[in-house]
Amino acid sequence: MQGPDNATIAERLEALAALLDLAGASYYSVRAYRRAAELIRATPAPVAEFVRSGRVRELRGIGSAIEGRLRELVETGRLAEIDELQREVQPELVGLGRLVGLAPARMVELGRALGVSSVEELRTAAAAGRLREARGIGPQTEAKIRAALERPRTAPRRGLQLTRAWELVGSIAEKLGGEPAGDPRRWCDTSHRLAVVVRSDAADDSVTRFADLPEIVSIVERDERSALGVTVEGVPVELVVAPAARYGTELLRATGSERYVAALGELPDAPDEEAVYVALGLPYLPPELREGPFRGAPPALVELADVRGDLHAHTTWSDGKASVLEMGEAARALGYEYLAICDHTRSVRVVPGLDADDLRRQGEEIAKANELLAPFRILRGTECDILADGTLDLPDDVLAELDWVQASVHAGQRQSRDQLTKRALAAIEHPAVRSLSHPQGRIINHRPPNAVDLEAVFAACLATGTAVETNGLPDRIDLSAELVHDAIRAGVRITCSTDAHSVRGLRNMRLSVATARRGWCTAADVLNTRSLEEFL
Ligand SMILES: [Zn+2]
Ligand SMILES: [Zn+2]
Repeated sequence: MQGPDNATIAERLEALAALLDLAGASYYSVRAYRRAAELIRATPAPVAEFVRSGRVRELRGIGSAIEGRLRELVETGRLAEIDELQREVQPELVGLGRLVGLAPARMVELGRALGVSSVEELRTAAAAGRLREARGIGPQTEAKIRAALERPRTAPRRGLQLTRAWELVGSIAEKLGGEPAGDPRRWCDTSHRLAVVVRSDAADDSVTRFADLPEIVSIVERDERSALGVTVEGVPVELVVAPAARYGTELLRATGSERYVAALGELPDAPDEEAVYVALGLPYLPPELREGPFRGAPPALVELADVRGDLHAHTTWSDGKASVLEMGEAARALGYEYLAICDHTRSVRVVPGLDADDLRRQGEEIAKANELLAPFRILRGTECDILADGTLDLPDDVLAELDWVQASVHAGQRQSRDQLTKRALAAIEHPAVRSLSHPQGRIINHRPPNAVDLEAVFAACLATGTAVETNGLPDRIDLSAELVHDAIRAGVRITCSTDAHSVRGLRNMRLSVATARRGWCTAADVLNTRSLEEFL
């Protein structure tokens, strides 16, 4: 007897996590199931066998509660709690509610009052004027729901961050044998349009398989060759089933942006995107550059493989999760030549920070790690906090000892344009500072960009040879692509960095490089495509 494979087990645990989340379970139990799902997906051996032989707790992160679920899943092929929760929290209604802008509890109440559980039934009820039969639905809410049902292509109310957007379209595309498209394929820092394109000549069962995916709780529209589904978070995902002869055309269209595609005029049918461009008589344009209308030849954009090191990573010395050596080993395994350890300094009070003494002791640890890792090199660096008066949080003699100094503002992001600009310029003009990190201090969907005058920042960077960062944390992406473009047009170099706080975080280099590509950067525009000898 074989039992469910690892992918199936992981998917069921994720479904359970999503339902528990909706039901208001604790953050920690939801996270425990999500982590277990991740772990099981990454395990090469069949987990069902571990469960049967009673050895599953040897896997890190599997405790007795999760072991119990796994046993049930392996023995019966299902989890009773999923069925119970589905009845209780009605994910289809929740997804639908989020799409039309109603809170989960309110939508479930409305669904029960009207006896509806799908988009179609809700539409019928709305058309028959029945919405107001439900308690608490006044004319305004009725109008809002009807409007949302009439334009079902509503974007998610908040854009999805890159990592989440890629997880979602990536997993749907993989399960359907298709390709991710929409905003994530252009690496937009927030995604509003998510799409997957599947190649198929016969009108096959792709639409049905899409509707049956655990990610999709509700189908808003469907025909033979397309569908619009909604996730439990209310995020709409489009499916396009394209015949092979037109696959490139449909992929290009579904990738967008709408403005860019519209400016191309009528699109010829072609099996792949390259052939569409050939037929249009245009050079191929990478997805990252498809924003505004453009018909020219693109520059040779920087590639992930051009990056020779990461210039911004944290360790357990401040708020990171891995040691100096672990981070160095991981960076070396990624094929890099160097990694700059840039822990925080003391004045960033919310996390542990380093003073001059700490940095010297850390220097000894780095020297030891470098003996083990040579010729790979860990740089002694800092993410030095820029204080309110523009001075730096470390004495000049310590800064001069370090290999790599970058500076950033943490507290006081709401200061005036004048104050923030003065602080940034003072740091840029300091002889030790090599790069300005996350210059706008934004946290996507949480904190807007600060008011710093970037034109003045770029002018000072150009005069002093200082670089600016595009930070690869998915909720930062700071500078954003448009501003990276402004920086390189001003003649300023970019650092592509991850701001990794863990070994895994080093993988966010893809996000930083994609942002640089969206900002029209070639390898020459990015400082860390160079060897250390070239820029230290
Ligand atoms: Zn920072
Ligand atoms: Zn940092």
